[in-house]
Amino acid sequence: MIGLISATAAGAVGCERLAAAWPGRTRVYEGAVGDAVRRAFGECEQLVCFLATGAVVRLVAPLLGDKASDPGVVCVDEAGRFAVSLVGGHGGSANRLAQEVGEVLGAHPVVTTATDSVGVPGLDTLGCPVEGDVAGVSRAMLDGEPVALQAEVTWPLPALPSNVTLPTAVGDERPPRSAIRVTDRLRDPGDREVVLRPPTLVVGVGASKGAPADEILDLIHTALRDAGLSPLSIAELATVDAKAGEPGVVEAARRLGVPVLTYGADELAAVDVPNPSGAPLAAIGTPSVAEAAALVRGGELLVPKRKSTRSDGRPAMATCAVVRRPARGRLAVVGLGPGARDLLTPRAKDELRRASVLVGLDQYVDQIRDLLRPGTRILESGLGAEEERARTAVAEARRGQAVALIGSGDAGVYAMASPALAEASDDIDVVGVPGVTAALAAAAILGAPLGHDHASISLSDLHTPWEVIERRVRAAAEADIVVTFYNPRSRSRDWQLPKALAILAEHREPTTPVGVVRNASRTDESSRLTTLAELDPATVDMMTVVTVGNTATREIAGRMVTPRGYRWQEGTE
Ligand code: SAH
Repeated sequence: MIGLISATAAGAVGCERLAAAWPGRTRVYEGAVGDAVRRAFGECEQLVCFLATGAVVRLVAPLLGDKASDPGVVCVDEAGRFAVSLVGGHGGSANRLAQEVGEVLGAHPVVTTATDSVGVPGLDTLGCPVEGDVAGVSRAMLDGEPVALQAEVTWPLPALPSNVTLPTAVGDERPPRSAIRVTDRLRDPGDREVVLRPPTLVVGVGASKGAPADEILDLIHTALRDAGLSPLSIAELATVDAKAGEPGVVEAARRLGVPVLTYGADELAAVDVPNPSGAPLAAIGTPSVAEAAALVRGGELLVPKRKSTRSDGRPAMATCAVVRRPARGRLAVVGLGPGARDLLTPRAKDELRRASVLVGLDQYVDQIRDLLRPGTRILESGLGAEEERARTAVAEARRGQAVALIGSGDAGVYAMASPALAEASDDIDVVGVPGVTAALAAAAILGAPLGHDHASISLSDLHTPWEVIERRVRAAAEADIVVTFYNPRSRSRDWQLPKALAILAEHREPTTPVGVVRNASRTDESSRLTTLAELDPATVDMMTVVTVGNTATREIAGRMVTPRGYRWQEGTE
């Protein structure tokens, strides 16, 4: 919940605008501001105060505890010009909140956290728990001092500045004073050391009916401690479907802050385990729960099955086993939108900044180069190398990297997502970020041509036989569907567009509106509205999409409009 506090009329208006923009996410605190700030600080994860920073500093100072748990606080000035991230920039996500407030109010976000203002990722923003001297090591990273990166387990890290290096050959006389260690092993961070805890451990849990959460948690903590493993690296608890709602298991997971994953008894029975047993086989149909559930997705068994111990001498009610799951890289398939920077989504921007490796066509890389973190490895290639780009991206993710594979518009529309996912197996995480595809960018320029059923058809017969394309155009023509042609015409492919238009003309009037948009949302954008009979194919090239209306599409006030339904049209005519 985001607490909203104001003292003046202008501030109250700001509160209302934020509340309207974020339904269900905010609570307005009325009354004396001191009281309001104190209440909100205790009740909300974040605060936006329409008050002077000085006033807020005085009010929150006595309330501040720990930067990991304090709420994030953003201050907005009376004129609504600045959204200042005051405290909790990372832990309380105030830096991000300042951006969001800025977007809603048109205010300039003010962020003073050193790592955020110079593009170095905050060590506490990497999506996994972190221990040690975050401030000291961040300072060393920023100051360009050498920092050693010691990764005992593979985890997709974002780009780090070039002074962060892997350990050099044995015999290096002056190892860097600062270090970032990536490990799931127990160790107290040394001086000037940060330990990142990637979510590598899967804890399989078996529990008798009514097993207490404390007994399960005790067992897990003891097992991990004896094996020298950190509980901060637990990714999930795993068990059999029949135990999905077992209160002790659910509560243990809640207290650890991890999800419970469950599997069918059949699936678990098929897993090869070192310590099968007759009891669960008879009761639920698998000879192993803890070991099998931990191992079912593969990985290395670090702690074989253990039973809980009870002080009252009664039989153990829980078992656990611990597996280190195989390294998982991350492949983000990111659509950049049609070209304009403000049509690139915030999520796409975040993924670009999260990547340590960027793969894409050179002209698209140029479009977003300024957004990448210093140190991002860029693998760019020219037109036509799709398969190779897809293979490279997947191979880098398999090596445990955080990869962003980019495409214009939406990366899944006639673009890189399908060759990449055809190549990928389930040993990497894949994240798709949708983008504004050319058909939508063009439609917004033309008016409302896609108001009813519509299809996109690529006229490129490089990968698809012309007979297939023609069959689809014919089907769309017969079904009276609005059609947007991608890849409509190039120097070497000039007869396909006239042919496709001729097929549509068999079923639509010569006066049917046709929209032609070139370079939608780019600096040299142009568009025109014409008709099936009058379109001159010579004016169309590969930077263009062509949208042909259906039999109900009309030109109204220079805009292309497809009615939403025929009933509506009858009713209004
Ligand atoms: N993934 C892209 C499409 C790639 S196919 C997307 O979702 O938009 C390439 C074709 O897309 C081009 O030949 C052109 O027809 C169309 N296209 C892409 N960007 C465009 C833009 N900004 N303006 C007009 N057409 C565009």
